[in-house]
Amino acid sequence: MLLRHTPKEIKERKALTINPAKTCQPVGAMYAALGVHGCLPHSHGSQGCCSYHRSVLTRHYKDPVMAGTSSFTEGSSVFGGQANLLQALANMFTIYDPDLVAIHSTCLSETIGDDLNQIVSKAIEDGKVPEGKNVIYCNTPSYIGSHITGFSNMCTGIVKGLAKHTGEAKDQVNILPGWVEPSDMREIKRIAAEMTAKIVMYPDTSDVVDSPQTGEFQMYPDGGATVEDIASSGDSIKTLALGSWASEDAAKLLDSQFKVPYEVLDIPVGLSATDRFVEALANAAKVEVPASFVSERGRLVDVITDMSQYLYGKKVALFGDPDQLIPLTEFLLDLDMIPTHIVSGTPGKKFTKKILELCAEKAPNVNVKNGAQADIFQLHQWMKNEPVDLMLGNTYGKYIARDEDVPFVRYGFPIIDRIGHSYFPTVGYTGGIRLLEKMLGAIMDKIDRDADDTQFELVM
Ligand code: SF4
Repeated sequence: MLLRHTPKEIKERKALTINPAKTCQPVGAMYAALGVHGCLPHSHGSQGCCSYHRSVLTRHYKDPVMAGTSSFTEGSSVFGGQANLLQALANMFTIYDPDLVAIHSTCLSETIGDDLNQIVSKAIEDGKVPEGKNVIYCNTPSYIGSHITGFSNMCTGIVKGLAKHTGEAKDQVNILPGWVEPSDMREIKRIAAEMTAKIVMYPDTSDVVDSPQTGEFQMYPDGGATVEDIASSGDSIKTLALGSWASEDAAKLLDSQFKVPYEVLDIPVGLSATDRFVEALANAAKVEVPASFVSERGRLVDVITDMSQYLYGKKVALFGDPDQLIPLTEFLLDLDMIPTHIVSGTPGKKFTKKILELCAEKAPNVNVKNGAQADIFQLHQWMKNEPVDLMLGNTYGKYIARDEDVPFVRYGFPIIDRIGHSYFPTVGYTGGIRLLEKMLGAIMDKIDRDADDTQFELVM
């Protein structure tokens, strides 16, 4: 009963956020940077910020996340952090030998107005960036936006710093996967390979934050999109940007800089979004959808049909990131479940509009809110007023789930008290089965737990 003091009565709040449904921008920038091979992320701010960014990623992925920091002191906070960053770049290239360094700012360096563009130019002029190495950067003031904004900003930084146009067209499709797990990135690559679609995908954190235990420490694991692959994305046929919040800006930049047209799609979570992704990829890469996908899809439809009695009409509360919540809501509707309360801490007016459109027919009374004041506290209050049968969200939802005795499926970021998300995808048709299995498992465990002896069924 940790949250027993959460009142049922809802009062409008303007300035106060309690239990935010988001984390800070640089966390996203750091995660995106890890999806480039040989990249050392660098946090331009205080050591405390960098420790937090690294620790939340390390706890989620259960793999050590390496990053540099400009280690601001009182002096740099007043006079600017240029000297610290120049020294840091020299140290990192000398000691840790990365292929590139990806710098993001923090609240502090943004507030004092450090100009990353100017500092990086000076570092190059002063010979602090060795020949053949790269430095990319982006601004991530965390008092606006969320970790998704930071992820998007670093994706744009990657395009700005590394993509090129040689004039020689390449028969390949760019995929910007958005903020998904390394398991999901691996699954997207498997789908493309099975379709014989040639792709360049970045960021790609598979084999970086889920790297195998070999007994030897590898500062830069084998995974990540290579600088060469990213460079070639300026010559691709098309870009598929998965998730408007995380990927659209980078896709737009590829279009405006290199005339690579783009299409924004939902992250392929669930049946309908996966259908759209497979079709879009087949069209863009000019390949056929293989027969094996008919079977994969059929298996997902089979599970939905077999288990519909446990799903039909069940009310669901969910919170997390907009690019994931939109296709997830659509999937719940496809399952004849009722999305009832939806919260995202990431701002963007189109989120509420999109959710209301999706739910208009089957769940017209859905409560939805996003932005800085949309928090998990509010979600809890909604759940007290209208109870639900299932809750989906990151680890921070566990207190509410326990207080309200609601089956809870961990989904999103961060998940710091369970494993599996790094290894088992939730995208694609197979990912849809995994998601269903988790939701059904949670619902059926509660049925078993609550059943008296006469209702305790062997076969379900
Ligand atoms: S001060 Fe800003 S950048 Fe640093 S951890 Fe806090 S929110 Fe993130």
